[in-house]
Amino acid sequence: MATTDRSHLQSLCPVCGSYTLDVCCQAELTHGIVFDLSENSLRVVSERLSDAEWDEASRVSCQQCGWHGMFSEVPIS
Ligand SMILES: [Zn+2]
Repeated sequence: MATTDRSHLQSLCPVCGSYTLDVCCQAELTHGIVFDLSENSLRVVSERLSDAEWDEASRVSCQQCGWHGMFSEVPIS
């Protein structure tokens, strides 16, 4: 694994001190559709992902140690 300069990062996981956490957030996926008469079916022509937002109650997990919690439990100073 490549070594990363972490001198400017704060450890985030309250259990193992990992610098990286996964935040689960709700994003809306929008499909652009057309009705294709030659195939007589709907076709997806575009996809857009809305900006995802998270808050204090969002679920957070650590890949390194398997910790699960809420964003409010992350020790951000
Ligand atoms: Zn962890």
